[in-house]
Amino acid sequence: MRRVSIFGATGSIGQNTIDLIRRDPDAYDVIALTGGRNIAQLARDAIEMRADIAVTAFDELLPELTAALAGTGVVAAAGEAALLEAGARPADWIMSAIVGAAGLAPGLEALKQGASLALANKESLVCAGALVLETARQNNARLLPVDSEHSAVFQALVGEDISAVERIVITASGGAFRDWPLEALRNATLEQASSHPNWDMGQRITIDSASMFNKALEVIETREYFGVSPRQIEVIVHPESLIHALVGFKDGALMAHLGAPDMRHAIGYALHWPDRRDLPVSRLDLAQVSQLNFRAPEHARYPALRLAYAVMERGGLSGAVFNAAKEQALDAFIAGQIGFLDMAGIVEDVLTRMETQPGLIDAAMTLDNVMHTDQMARHYAVEAIKQRAG
Ligand code: NDP
Repeated sequence: MRRVSIFGATGSIGQNTIDLIRRDPDAYDVIALTGGRNIAQLARDAIEMRADIAVTAFDELLPELTAALAGTGVVAAAGEAALLEAGARPADWIMSAIVGAAGLAPGLEALKQGASLALANKESLVCAGALVLETARQNNARLLPVDSEHSAVFQALVGEDISAVERIVITASGGAFRDWPLEALRNATLEQASSHPNWDMGQRITIDSASMFNKALEVIETREYFGVSPRQIEVIVHPESLIHALVGFKDGALMAHLGAPDMRHAIGYALHWPDRRDLPVSRLDLAQVSQLNFRAPEHARYPALRLAYAVMERGGLSGAVFNAAKEQALDAFIAGQIGFLDMAGIVEDVLTRMETQPGLIDAAMTLDNVMHTDQMARHYAVEAIKQRAG
């Protein structure tokens, strides 16, 4: 039996992972499930999966979780230390699907014990790519991409040498506002930004798709994961979301990965890697698809992309600044404090402000320095949000 843990089990990726595991319960020994505020879901899944331990990230929710698990044999735990402890519990395969920078530290614990880490939490690589990769290398742990674009590139590279790669093209649906007049974006509402044309995902990543902050994070993730230079990474708007990524080789060949927009493909590939197993995803009927469309992303519509390239050029801890400022700006948009277009402005303000402080961005990439930079960026973002809101 393979020992598996799922961080962020109550979220969209976590639930899709559980769906795959549920189909073959005898193959897996579930060690730890973690969640946040959705205690009912966490308890239900932990009992069904016979997990050893269920962890909520929030201390104040421990009594509720303990009560829900009473008499079931599943241990209840809460808080940051318990999340780290869950990461350190011996397991063969761990899904990293906490949303945001909060996923970084538990993921590092998983790598330290040498587990294979299926990385949906792209923020880990954006904030601390070198640290994550080095921790994996030192502990002989494997990182398996779960973002559909990165899974697609990973699959296109099987049997290939990365030095033969000329470019990596990742596709973007263009999000909820791809066809809106630019002037209308200023007044885009939370509800409008929270609906994705093709994918069914968590609310935060759906809004990040409308702003292309999600694609911006993925561009940085591509650089970190595959070690290519920023100029080798291209983004193309592909409204059908059927091609997830393409890899261009030195001989001019372009290998595309196609599939229905269903995260269970990428999750299943990471779960069964290096094998391919039958997965419950629909098969494409190309005659019915009939055509695939592409267009270059408009820079005025998606300023987040320009910022991502600036962050990659700058390097150091600027990815942690970018992500933290983005998370704060997104919270403020969700809370109705700022408009849709303010998010990119706030992130740019924070990047500029922190850039000018000597030694900050160029500090060594340790977990402490990353978290310190993250906290500072959040603080500056809150100030920038107040300015814009006020
Ligand atoms: P969701 O918002 O659906 O789920 C997030 C998970 O993290 C939930 O289990 C949530 O708990 C938990 N959580 C929230 N806050 C914290 C915290 N502070 N500490 C610990 N746990 C917390 O997100 P998604 O599943 O959509 O995304 C998860 C990750 O996967 C993100 O990094 C995202 O970018 C990435 N990803 C998602 C894709 C998708 O299709 N959804 C596609 C590719 C990548 P609770 O709900 O109980 O509060």
